[in-house]
Amino acid sequence: MFQDFISLFFPNCCFTCEGPLLKSEEYICTKCIYDLPKTNEHIEQPAFQNHFGVHVNFKYALSYLKFIKKGKVQKLMHKFKYDHFPEIGNTLGKWYGADLKEHGYQNEIDLILPIPLHENKLKQRGFNQSDFFALGLSQSLDVPFSNKIIARSTKSETQTKKGRLARWKNVKEIFLVLDELSVIGKRVLLVDDVITTGSTLESCALTLQESGCGELSFATLAVAK
Ligand SMILES: [Zn+2]
Repeated sequence: MFQDFISLFFPNCCFTCEGPLLKSEEYICTKCIYDLPKTNEHIEQPAFQNHFGVHVNFKYALSYLKFIKKGKVQKLMHKFKYDHFPEIGNTLGKWYGADLKEHGYQNEIDLILPIPLHENKLKQRGFNQSDFFALGLSQSLDVPFSNKIIARSTKSETQTKKGRLARWKNVKEIFLVLDELSVIGKRVLLVDDVITTGSTLESCALTLQESGCGELSFATLAVAK
């Protein structure tokens, strides 16, 4: 009864092709899953191609999907972020996590941390899309996840930290590690939704490295190609 009530408002249609979904399918039909433009970077070892534009030492830089303007991934990301379907991010994270696990990545990571969202964006959207993707990865890889370790600093904190960070002239985003003990020596997978310039990931990575994190890798849901 309740399920019928729900489907009145959320008919079970594929989020990308809008065709009907089978009972076993969730958000995206099997054909669309198959057709998603995957980068397959986790197989082809692109870790050494620094398309992230990140100037810090890292082990892997992985993106699940290719973000093409007006393509399937853009449609999916829009549903995910702006139409309030955070569960899509979780589902995509689980699928990617399963792909990564198949190639042994669970043995390369100790901790999964999502990039925190700006406080005003969080209020506006009600959720951090990277949390859901990172949680999905964690569930499939069986690697711990936490969204309580990194925070974006507020303006006043930015000013007090100015001296220490002044040398990173291009850093626009300022992050704080709230629990340094939990990152020391750990192989951290830093997770974001779409990679654009890489400056956010870079800034967060620098903060983690300053806090003594052992090894860094990056994973994003999509990369603009
Ligand atoms: Zn479909």
